[in-house]
Amino acid sequence: MSIQGIINEASASACTASAFLWKLWIYTNYDCNLRCSYCVAKSSPNTARRALGLANVVKLVDEAVDLGFSDIFFTGGEPFILSDIYEMLAYSSARVKTTVLTNAMLLRTKRLDQLCAINNENLIVQVSLDGGNAADHDAYRGKGSWAKTVEGIELLQERGFRVRLSTTETPVNAARLEEVCIFHRRLGIPDEDHFIRPLAKRGYSKEGLALDMTNLMPEVTVNLDGVFWHPLSTDVDMQVSRKIFPLFGSVERIQQQIDEIARTGSSKLMTFT
Ligand code: SF4
Repeated sequence: MSIQGIINEASASACTASAFLWKLWIYTNYDCNLRCSYCVAKSSPNTARRALGLANVVKLVDEAVDLGFSDIFFTGGEPFILSDIYEMLAYSSARVKTTVLTNAMLLRTKRLDQLCAINNENLIVQVSLDGGNAADHDAYRGKGSWAKTVEGIELLQERGFRVRLSTTETPVNAARLEEVCIFHRRLGIPDEDHFIRPLAKRGYSKEGLALDMTNLMPEVTVNLDGVFWHPLSTDVDMQVSRKIFPLFGSVERIQQQIDEIARTGSSKLMTFT
């Protein structure tokens, strides 16, 4: 088990450009097939789609590659609701290591075939799994979701995908995290492809850590409304710029802010993805 997140606390003086200039997060939509009660993005089947669109994604990928980003992450809501997600992932993964976050419940038949058609060694599928049993996972994500997610993971593996697992530690599963590890090893997913992060008090979640721009290591994040400090939240207090392009402008702004934190020693920043 590798636990990223809160245990990776880093001093502000370590916040050089290279410390954050490696991950770009793209919010592709916001609508979702699930309605998780801890969702930081407030996604659900009723959430309005806020589609970033293929043209914006292509432009973002181009600029991110020029700026030296080495990883791009796509998140939804559920990205596989979109019909053009495959083109987005194909374009990105042809240029840079690309991870797509999913609950894996929709990846069947045609969607799975479309994803298989663009599979390559730069593409990683990251699935949320909160338990080695249905009860721990379904408590926050909805009855029946664990079984469908596990089936989705197995289908992805059968088709040759590298699957990473992300587990949110909650009051329900906290005593049984080792069970998740036993389960993922049984699935053939190695420890380095499983990480656990704490619950955050954002979005729909009324419990968890209070995290914001003063205590989170930045990871440049884009949605239709602009650029944000970190993918944990695209609430207005996390907004860096209302303009997506040029991305470089927001990167400079973030750099200035972490330089200031390093200069004053005013806070410690932690990684949380
Ligand atoms: S946590 Fe993920 S799967 Fe659950 S509602 Fe939010 S976006 Fe959808």
